Amino acid sequence: MSPFLDDRVDSDAILDDIRSIVAIESPSRHAAGVNCVLEAIVHFFNGTGAVCERYLTGDALGDILRVRCHPSRNEPGILVLSHMDTVHPLGTLAGKLPWRRDSDRVYGPGVYDMKGGLMLAIAAYQRIARARRHTPLPITFLFTPDEEVSSPTSRSFIEREARGYRYVLVTEPARDGGKIVTARKGIGAFIVRTHGRPAHSGSSPDKGRSAIAAMAELVLAIERMNDPPRGVTTNVGLINGGTARNTVAEDCMIEVDLRFSDRASASALEANVLALKSSRPDIETTVTGRITRPPFAREKIVDLVFDQAAAIAQEIGFKLESTAPVGGGSDGNFTVAMGIPTLDGLGVDGDGAHTNEEYLKYSSIEPRTRLMQGLMERLS
Ligand SMILES: [Zn+2]
Repeated sequence: MSPFLDDRVDSDAILDDIRSIVAIESPSRHAAGVNCVLEAIVHFFNGTGAVCERYLTGDALGDILRVRCHPSRNEPGILVLSHMDTVHPLGTLAGKLPWRRDSDRVYGPGVYDMKGGLMLAIAAYQRIARARRHTPLPITFLFTPDEEVSSPTSRSFIEREARGYRYVLVTEPARDGGKIVTARKGIGAFIVRTHGRPAHSGSSPDKGRSAIAAMAELVLAIERMNDPPRGVTTNVGLINGGTARNTVAEDCMIEVDLRFSDRASASALEANVLALKSSRPDIETTVTGRITRPPFAREKIVDLVFDQAAAIAQEIGFKLESTAPVGGGSDGNFTVAMGIPTLDGLGVDGDGAHTNEEYLKYSSIEPRTRLMQGLMERLS
């Protein structure tokens, strides 16, 4: 019998632990909340022999926690990546999304993305530690504070840390009935500003140069960059400009979201956005931003680890499938781009990420905990 198949999985106890960290609201940029989650996580590793190291980021996002489960082993191992922040503002738990259970569905802010997955990975390790089982590879966890805002602080830390690992397992939520994620789009984030000349729109309209009219043309140019067959989508998600109805607008700004499937088109797309410029006279255009996540492409290195995971799932009793490429990014994008076999979407099943209908499926806790434990016990 394989160890990850033995022993009852206590889904109620794991759910209690999930509840204890969901009770700590931790929206991105709320360092106090994120650090409270971090301290709770340290507690879960007590008595397992793991060594917890906290890295102060010195900014308003919160700190990074690295947990080395086998500190005396130096060979390349498994890195488990989880984020502690959520998209839900403070007060969500007492307001729009209180903790509640409705048969198989358990609702709460961050319960699905990704406190559920974070917790079941810890539970999988606790089971291994409690039984004093040897794993072929040493295991390290990394808990980050800022994934939901594109990992500005964690990115370089993750890339530095991941370099020495054989595998990366990401505890983002499962999709579409338990599918795991083996491909994600890359993401770019940009701000475009136009600067014109203000004037009274009644008495001297000819003196004005409208930053809004100039921006309107640029918005359409960005819309034209959409190319769904090539996996490229653009979105102007935010616009701000002008000061009054009867004043020709001096300033306008937009925020642009860019998604793309393959690494080859990334730099050309980035260059096109950065080169945006109004053709109108006396309008100054500035573009800032960059590609924040490279694409997570389905490559051979991913196929190999997927096949191992699928074999483990089969022993547990379910068929593991992977999703079509996902539009949202994760920290797995960084490690795949580095050439490290990475599996994502290993967390709980459920739905409603980033909404007030976010829930996890209680019934997914057991098989997903076993799958995570199986990966820890089998990957070599
Ligand atoms: Zn997430």
